Amino acid sequence: MVRRTYVASLWFALFCVPIAYSQEQSTPAKSAETNRGQRTAVSLEQMVIVEEGQLPILISAPHGGLLKIPNVDPRQGVGMEKGPSGFFAGRDGGTEELAKDVIEAIEMQLGRKPYSVISSVDRKYLDPNRPPEIAYEDVDAKPVYDRYHDSMLSHCRSILNEYHSGLLLDIHGQGSKRDTVFRGTSNGKTVSRIREQFGDSAHTGESSLFGLLKEQGWTVFPDPYDGKEQSGFTGGHIVRTYGSHQASGIDAVQLEFGAEYRTKANRKKIAEQLATAVAQYAKLYLRMPEAR
Ligand SMILES: [Zn+2]
Repeated sequence: MVRRTYVASLWFALFCVPIAYSQEQSTPAKSAETNRGQRTAVSLEQMVIVEEGQLPILISAPHGGLLKIPNVDPRQGVGMEKGPSGFFAGRDGGTEELAKDVIEAIEMQLGRKPYSVISSVDRKYLDPNRPPEIAYEDVDAKPVYDRYHDSMLSHCRSILNEYHSGLLLDIHGQGSKRDTVFRGTSNGKTVSRIREQFGDSAHTGESSLFGLLKEQGWTVFPDPYDGKEQSGFTGGHIVRTYGSHQASGIDAVQLEFGAEYRTKANRKKIAEQLATAVAQYAKLYLRMPEAR
């Protein structure tokens, strides 16, 4: 189903950035001051926060950071295509915080930590959700990009070794529909394993991840779940690289959260609801570690 109303706001939709958060971006004067302070203060470990997990679940959040990469200027995107798979430098405001809340909520509900990779650097300097040739423009940003992707790969391998399948949630923000969360799986491709193992209903039925999220009161798209995913939100480089259509991947879902799901007031509640749905999903589809 194509929603024509979205076409009108397509350009904004593609940008993956909410108006509501534009005020979070710092003024040039402020960022210059911050940049000076950061040259000596920021480590690679702070720029990409990586945690080992004890569950077949991996949380990724590439676009919510605010830090500057030392000695790296903002990307210019000269000669690059703009849009959902090209150049865009706007943040997905609130998603770094939301991802951290989700990790905490999953640990609370399942008693163990998920694996995670979170970028704390501003998308101005680096876009981990792009292939390396268009992700950064300064070689000093390469170690940050490599840490993100080396960690993703190593987490996927650990999960596959131990559990034979797993779930990757790639957390983003979109500015086209405040009340909606869009699913991105390349229309089912990046969740090939669960579909093969449990049938299409595990992806498109009431007990699919998005079915379980709707039960939590979320407005999800596509709904019905077997509809086409929204153009521009069908899943980016991360789910296409680490999805289960790849030999070393796991079932991967990109979640594009509307602004209402990312406000400071709502994030904890949203994280708890997502963790509840993930716990239900895990019971149905994942091999879980023995209870301690
Ligand atoms: Zn994003």
